[in-house]
Amino acid sequence: MKLPFAFARRFVAGETFQETIPKIITFNKKGIRVTLDLLGENVKDKTTADKTVDVYTGLLEDIHTANLTSTISIKLTMMGLDIDEDYCKENLFRLLDKAKELDSFVRIDMEGSDYTQRTIDIFKEAFSEYEKHVGIVIQAYLHRSRKDIEELAGLGADIRLCKGAYKESKRIALQNMTDIREAFRDYAKILLDQTTFPRMATHDDELIEWVKQYTSENNIPKKQFEFQMLYGLREETMEQFARQGYNARVYVPYGTMWFPYFKRRLMERKENIWFVLSTMVKK
Ligand SMILES: Cc1cc2nc3c(=O)[nH]c(=O)nc-3n(C[C@H](O)[C@H](O)[C@H](O)COP(=O)(O)OP(=O)(O)OC[C@H]3O[C@@H](n4cnc5c(N)ncnc54)[C@H](O)[C@@H]3O)c2cc1C
Repeated sequence: MKLPFAFARRFVAGETFQETIPKIITFNKKGIRVTLDLLGENVKDKTTADKTVDVYTGLLEDIHTANLTSTISIKLTMMGLDIDEDYCKENLFRLLDKAKELDSFVRIDMEGSDYTQRTIDIFKEAFSEYEKHVGIVIQAYLHRSRKDIEELAGLGADIRLCKGAYKESKRIALQNMTDIREAFRDYAKILLDQTTFPRMATHDDELIEWVKQYTSENNIPKKQFEFQMLYGLREETMEQFARQGYNARVYVPYGTMWFPYFKRRLMERKENIWFVLSTMVKK
């Protein structure tokens, strides 16, 4: 059964870029930057992957033309990672050529653990060529992440740190929230101490307060890192960050392929199910 878009509206800004523009402008006016995510994952054929790269490239141009303060986040499985690694790399580099030309930025989202090593390998090659125009994500729940964070921080990479959204076994990832928070703090420390502009992606007050305290105690300026949150979750907090002088960025997903993203949001927090239902009741 196909759910109507009204269900996803709480977490997904629109089905088209045009529908999403006014929301980006509203965030920008409040001093909040945006990263746009055209929803979709796991493309299995080259025709679709080629089209996706064209859409991403056009999106960078549209953002530039509309003078929006927005970058984009992408998934390598949408650019052909399931088809062929070299092909996916060519697609990514084609997109990064455009990002470089427009002095923009592309963040490679991190997907499930089957893709971690390949994503990091492709990122490292891209970073050596495109430097400030490309970034990556590290998930604190993965057992392997300390090694990855240390290596990538050593390279000077632009890293978004998050907890991790995919269901992983205990062989691969921490399962307990206390342990995940502890790992997040450990890795955040490495990033805040050693990299120039880390991104802290969480809605978790315990971690947010910790970041504020750690940076204040260690004289790390507010302008030297960024808080990131997902669209539809804690807009008031984002506005408060901006008023307090912190960098704030909201991750704004849009597009017709919203179901897997929507499902992850419902699965990770039971309150999100209530948010959706209450939005439906209010309509
Ligand atoms: C900008 C951004 C980009 C991301 N990119 C990726 C990615 O590339 N790959 C990936 O695997 N995952 C990604 N994620 C998802 C991430 O890994 C987590 O699954 C997701 O953020 C939930 O973890 P959390 O730390 O935000 O809070 P949770 O673990 O969901 O919640 C912890 C606590 O935070 C507080 N809280 C949470 N939500 C709210 C709310 N709406 N209102 C009030 N309090 C709240 C509550 O106290 C809650 O108990 C991203 C997340 C963000 C914010």
